[in-house]
Amino acid sequence: PTTDETILSVKGLEVNFDGFKALRNLDFSLKQGELRFLIGPNGAGKTTLLDVICGKVKPSQGHVIFKDSIDLTKHQEHQEHQIAQLGIGRKFQAPTVFSTLTVFENLALSMKQQRGLLSALWAKTTSEQRERLHLRLDMIGLQSKAKERAGSLSHGEKQWLEIGMLLMQEPDLLLLDEPAAGMTDSETEKTGELLHEIAANQTIIVVEHDMAFVRQFARIVTVLHEGTVLREGTMQEIQNDDKVAEVYLGR
Ligand code: ADP
Repeated sequence: PTTDETILSVKGLEVNFDGFKALRNLDFSLKQGELRFLIGPNGAGKTTLLDVICGKVKPSQGHVIFKDSIDLTKHQEHQEHQIAQLGIGRKFQAPTVFSTLTVFENLALSMKQQRGLLSALWAKTTSEQRERLHLRLDMIGLQSKAKERAGSLSHGEKQWLEIGMLLMQEPDLLLLDEPAAGMTDSETEKTGELLHEIAANQTIIVVEHDMAFVRQFARIVTVLHEGTVLREGTMQEIQNDDKVAEVYLGR
């Protein structure tokens, strides 16, 4: 659930790609435990914003303050494991699971990965870790498939597994890119419910194009347009906003 504590604060962000401003004067902030949907037409800057948050892209101006004290723009280009250590997990659209390993092994590997992939393969799983793994398996709905190879899962199940893998690293902030893309209706529904369940403990930013999904599962929506925040509000407010309709829905 949303608390009063700000977990992420983005101020005056500007990103230049060879003179083209992909982000300009962008302010954005998130409370701990929020499930925030980020929408906007193609090229609005959604991916670039996530890239800045996880240190992949360096802004020419502005700050990204995480958990009150960490300025994510102050670091050199982040490696994936550094980002995980800071408490940020990012998931791209296509699932990247180890298809020859079982569902359980994928989760276990992800849990131990902070110490490096090789030592993770050798490290024994403690009973406390086992318990954590089973809790996550339940959460992502794959308990009955724990021993199946990840490669045999459906597209939706692979996506949930990957979300579960991210969660094993106990991130405070999850960045998800179209988590329900390519899913069946019932998988999409389950994914929306899963996001709300995760948001009981963690903060999530979801970049989403599927407006039906956004309408059903979003509380607060941020609309980006031409590299900056056009509007922010409840789904109801966003849907009734003329400016949003103009730029986004093409009305
Ligand atoms: P969205 O995710 O909202 O579709 P992006 O963040 O991907 O938007 O892109 C924002 C703008 O920045 C687009 O006009 C895109 O063409 C441009 N852009 C993104 N990445 C690069 C890059 N590496 N070099 C040059 N231009 C880029």
